[in-house]
Amino acid sequence: MTGVSSEGPLVGKLAQRAIAVTAGLFEMGDPPRLLASSCNECGQPHFPRQETCPYCSADGCTDIELSNNGTLWAWTAVTSAPPGYKGAVPYGFGVVELPEGIRIVTRLTESDPARLSYGEPVHLEIVPVYQDEDGRDVVTFAFAADASDAPVQGGE
Ligand SMILES: [Zn+2]
Repeated sequence: MTGVSSEGPLVGKLAQRAIAVTAGLFEMGDPPRLLASSCNECGQPHFPRQETCPYCSADGCTDIELSNNGTLWAWTAVTSAPPGYKGAVPYGFGVVELPEGIRIVTRLTESDPARLSYGEPVHLEIVPVYQDEDGRDVVTFAFAADASDAPVQGGE
């Protein structure tokens, strides 16, 4: 596959000088990865990583990486900045269901709820939130609708 768009993957441009908004939630690789755990006792995956299982309280969980593709389960738009938030509003916010059977509360790249639909395929991206005092991009993870990468369809 050589079909890289002229935009290039965002993560490639950001990787040099980007810092994560919260450490330990994701890796800025290509593709990026969400860092989760799986319980050695009950087998439930959970995100973010914890030593203790939030479902059965067992200690000793195994680090896993979650799928980058899921389906949209719930969504909304955040139209006023939460306390301490330095990025732009509005932004999308919702819940994505992954094949592992886990639902992730996540930022969404689409901020217009009318453009999203239940069960829509989505994928993980790393997106800039704001620039810090040193001019570095502070980034976080977000899910984007697969269809949003496609060329805009003609009216049907
Ligand atoms: Zn457990």
